[in-house]
Amino acid sequence: MVNIDWKNLGFSYIKTPYRYIARWKDGEWLDSEMTEDNTLHISEGSPALHYGQQCFEGLKAYRCKDNTINLFRIGDNAKRFQTSAQRLMMPLIPEEMFIDAVKQVVDCNEAYVPPYGTGATLYIRPLLIGVGDSIGVNPAPEYIFTVFCMPVGAYFKGGLKPTNFIVSDYDRAAPEGTGAVKVGGNYAASLLPGKEAKSRKFSDCIYLDPATHTKIEEVGAANFFGITKDNKFITPKSPSILPSITKYSLLELAKDRLGMEAIEGDVYLKDLDKFTEAGACGTAAVISPIGGIQLKDKFQVFYSETEVGPVTKRLYDELTGIQFGDIEGPEGWIMKLIVE
Ligand SMILES: *Cc1c(COP(=O)(O)O)cnc(C)c1O
Repeated sequence: MVNIDWKNLGFSYIKTPYRYIARWKDGEWLDSEMTEDNTLHISEGSPALHYGQQCFEGLKAYRCKDNTINLFRIGDNAKRFQTSAQRLMMPLIPEEMFIDAVKQVVDCNEAYVPPYGTGATLYIRPLLIGVGDSIGVNPAPEYIFTVFCMPVGAYFKGGLKPTNFIVSDYDRAAPEGTGAVKVGGNYAASLLPGKEAKSRKFSDCIYLDPATHTKIEEVGAANFFGITKDNKFITPKSPSILPSITKYSLLELAKDRLGMEAIEGDVYLKDLDKFTEAGACGTAAVISPIGGIQLKDKFQVFYSETEVGPVTKRLYDELTGIQFGDIEGPEGWIMKLIVE
């Protein structure tokens, strides 16, 4: 294992030795290889650069107590990558090719998979971009699929800590737009609202449903969930939300392991006071407890501004326990990589 201060890692780019790259041309994927070159040499006409024809994924590899490595629900990332590619008229990566690329990347960079017990993980970034000589608004003539990785730290050092969020006046996606797929354009649109929220000392902003602005949709680049006073797990359902794999995992764990009623449904701003706990969820942060939400000049506190609520904590422990291999997960959630 390489010598890194695992406990103090953040979430920032670190160049690891190897990445996977494959090129698509004339209807097929060719030339897949592992390379040490972390730069891409592409045409200035590449549609990814001009018209945002690109999509990505984010998943993690987890080091277990016995030194093996877990991948979590990777098949779901592979499927979502296809959904994103299809929406932007890019060629699909077959599920086996996606999984094989991720496995090779983890395997070649195994020394960078953080040790068990540090809370750190190996973050894996698959990326698909439209490239080649082009200038009209058309699908690209060629594509690059690449997968790279870097070690990232536990999001919350020293335990889960609630932070505050502010409801944005901006939308991140249109009602029937690209909100449900993992494409860079949604993120470009979120930079300014995110910056404005942060300049006012909030962690990030909360996006409402773009059609009526009456319901919560996303929390920055994470999904929202709330725990009601009568112990229900509720998370918004909408065609402009990115279907978070973490969110679907929590829905299932809330129902099957915590015995709660767990539902996808509308989360109206006017009903926020029915929640005793709230959180944001996604692969990067796992769960980020929400202390309070600023809505115009009203500030709604959930469980506490300083302490994580008990249900949020249990869900976090169950999910991370499964990811790091300490707790048996539901069937099909874990793919194990055996390393010597
Ligand atoms: C990736 C992402 C999420 C989280 O999805 P996970 O599968 O849980 O990582 C949530 N919202 C947006 C906008 C995202 O891009």
